[in-house]
Amino acid sequence: MKSSVLNAMTVDVEDFFHVSAFEEIIKPEQWQDYQVRVDRNTRRLLDIFAKHDVKSTFFVLGWVAERYPDLIKEISKQGHEIASHGYAHRRASEQTREEFTADVLRSKNHLEDLLGEKLTGYRAPSFSIGYTNEWAFEVLAELGFGYSSSTYPVKHDLYGTPDWPRFAYKRPEGIVEIPIPTLKILGKQVPIGGGGYFRLYPYSVARKLVKQYLKKEQQPYSFYFHPWEIDPEQPHVQGASFKSRFRHYLNLDKMEGRLESLLTDFKWGTMKDVYNIDVVQKS
Ligand SMILES: [Zn+2]
Repeated sequence: MKSSVLNAMTVDVEDFFHVSAFEEIIKPEQWQDYQVRVDRNTRRLLDIFAKHDVKSTFFVLGWVAERYPDLIKEISKQGHEIASHGYAHRRASEQTREEFTADVLRSKNHLEDLLGEKLTGYRAPSFSIGYTNEWAFEVLAELGFGYSSSTYPVKHDLYGTPDWPRFAYKRPEGIVEIPIPTLKILGKQVPIGGGGYFRLYPYSVARKLVKQYLKKEQQPYSFYFHPWEIDPEQPHVQGASFKSRFRHYLNLDKMEGRLESLLTDFKWGTMKDVYNIDVVQKS
């Protein structure tokens, strides 16, 4: 039986060549040389969500929104929440406050002009907000955001702040921060929020971890993934490290089936709905 708790389904709308794992070998000025798959993959996701009657939050990269305005309008038209994933997929932790502000503002303005409504949510690329750049929350508050989902309380080579709060909380800047879920297993903080980990474990294990989280923590769960994860046909990027390639291409052919199981086994909604985020936006 489906658990009655409403959990948040989220998608980071970017293409396979935008990911941080490939940033050393694919620079933003080369993005235009790659075959774009995000439009078709995201439309496929819309069909899957419609089939399961699930509404999701889509954290859209500004670069994608500029090139595929019809896609963004369609996502919104189907009742999903549009949020920002910044413009150029640069980690917040590698930008100055001014650069970060400019990147977020560019994507926010573009999406708001496109949709004719204000955005509430933001997610930093690679969960790159932590103790070293808490000023980013001040920027998000100044720009009128209500929530962020930009932190991951785990130890990982590419992201994470191990001792960060594990559950959604309101920050002094006024932003609600929604960290990616983790579970303490044998004294270790295990990432269970999605991405590569979801493709690594068999689905039965992933389901067990989500159930355990809901029971033990009494908090809503949130899941994240990317449109390229349901696309086993995507071109293979040459020159990346074995580790990066292993993580990126692992079990792509199983993702769609597992996603459908996840959509069936739990109850899903948007970030805004799950966390009751309703802020008065500054203009
Ligand atoms: Zn991303």
